[in-house]
Amino acid sequence: MSKKQASLLVQGYEVVIGFETHAQLSTQSKIFSRAPVAFGAEPNTQACAVDLALPGTLPVMNKGAVERAIQFGLAVGSHVAERSIFARKNYFYPDLPKGYQISQFEIPVVQGGEVSFFLGDEKKTVRLVRAHLEEDAGKSLHEDFHGLSGIDLNRAGTPLLEIVTEPDIRSSAEAVAYAKELHKIVTWIGICDGNMQEGSFRCDANVSVRKPGAALGTRREIKNLNSFKFMQQAIDFEVRWQIDRIEDGYEIEQATVLFDPDTGETRAMRTKEDAADYRYFPDPDLPPLMIEREWVERVRAEMPELPRDLERLYVDEYGLTTYMASQVVGTYAKAQFFHSAAIQNSDTEAISADQLNDPGFYKPFARRIAVWISGEISRAMNEDGGPDWRFWIDPATLARIALREQQGVISGKAAKELFDYIWKKGRVDQSNSPPQLVDDLIEGRNLRQMDDAGELKEIIVEVIATNVDNVVQYRSGKEKAFNALVGQVMRLTKGKANPAQVTAMLKAMLA
Ligand code: ADP
Ligand code: MG
Repeated sequence: MSKKQASLLVQGYEVVIGFETHAQLSTQSKIFSRAPVAFGAEPNTQACAVDLALPGTLPVMNKGAVERAIQFGLAVGSHVAERSIFARKNYFYPDLPKGYQISQFEIPVVQGGEVSFFLGDEKKTVRLVRAHLEEDAGKSLHEDFHGLSGIDLNRAGTPLLEIVTEPDIRSSAEAVAYAKELHKIVTWIGICDGNMQEGSFRCDANVSVRKPGAALGTRREIKNLNSFKFMQQAIDFEVRWQIDRIEDGYEIEQATVLFDPDTGETRAMRTKEDAADYRYFPDPDLPPLMIEREWVERVRAEMPELPRDLERLYVDEYGLTTYMASQVVGTYAKAQFFHSAAIQNSDTEAISADQLNDPGFYKPFARRIAVWISGEISRAMNEDGGPDWRFWIDPATLARIALREQQGVISGKAAKELFDYIWKKGRVDQSNSPPQLVDDLIEGRNLRQMDDAGELKEIIVEVIATNVDNVVQYRSGKEKAFNALVGQVMRLTKGKANPAQVTAMLKAMLA
């Protein structure tokens, strides 16, 4: 076992997790009927005869749902089946008037594929088993104060894509990173709105533990995790619970459990059915789903550029590290922002076409923009809080700040000060500032770095003369003493000297 794997063990046990995710597909109407799928309507106003399972009604496949499944398959490198089958999953529940859910069982539409992501700076890959189309059930409402329950069938027939992984995940942190990456993919290609509060993206985590090298342990399935925070808490609790059980001499029983955010605990809901209990069989009302290659190719041609393709482009052409590139494509909006600030560069007033074509200019410039996006911009957005955050700075304005910094006109510290001011101003005004404000502020606030070497030299001479102790210590090999000297110079220049220039001059004068 490698050192890394060993460090992942919890009390000597290896954690094994497989995910089943239900992504609600962003169609206007239901998967087998023409009723609308809009969220939050009055109960039972968005269910038609098909959704109510009235006798004599027949399901009709929604082409838009199939198209979204194809998009997903292409995005994660799966095989899109030319022929797949809808099956009936039979069970009784009041919110399922047909007595069965239409799903796919033996032959799903999307087969195989994988999802890769970074955990810290380590790259992980989780293999997908499949993704299949199915309909959602209705909802039971238990809040009636007479002790009665109601059934709302608005959600019945909502199109879902259930995405199933191999049991490749090894920790709660990895589980969350996987779920975030999957969330990013489905929202990026636009097949799902990703709204977790409204249930558009729900994860079930199958969790088991085992001694390293042993066969897979028995799993318990945590249902309906609809926040990344709860996901981590639920899995951590479940892992500890299973280990304690085993250590106490019990065997784990396969079960479906729910996470209670109030207690932070998972609780068994029912012992889990096996596939055989559902008596799956092909739905005689629906013909096999046939997908011609031309359709797949048409969908492929219309797909947006995917995060992993952009990552590769940014690494190969713009010199970003893989980690940096993964940060920049963290969301579709960030990638767009990077594209207009670093590549397309809308700040034509400040950056010439020649510069944009010169790798000696555009590579460090792109890296600089990437650092801004993964650093200050991400931080500012987190402070603003989600989920409707936006960029309170235009790409061109950020480009202007980065350019002035790259030119040495302002220090990194001044650049941050400008950024903070402009971001906050944008938020207060509810509108972004033009790039010109950057130059106005540099002049108005006197942020221009000292570029007069003569003046700087005088200050350095003074610092050397008045800090003899540090000079002696530096000469005897203490780096810290040198930093203290740089700090003195920066203080005396009120931060306006260029630290790189100060360092170079100090070194030369003390040599
Ligand atoms: P079912 O259809 O009964 O839910 P599947 O074989 O489809 O069972 O598996 C469901 C999910 O559970 C998959 O994501 C799979 O990777 C995961 N899984 C299967 N066995 C284990 C196990 N022992 N520990 C953790 N996850 C598992
Ligand atoms: Mg399953």
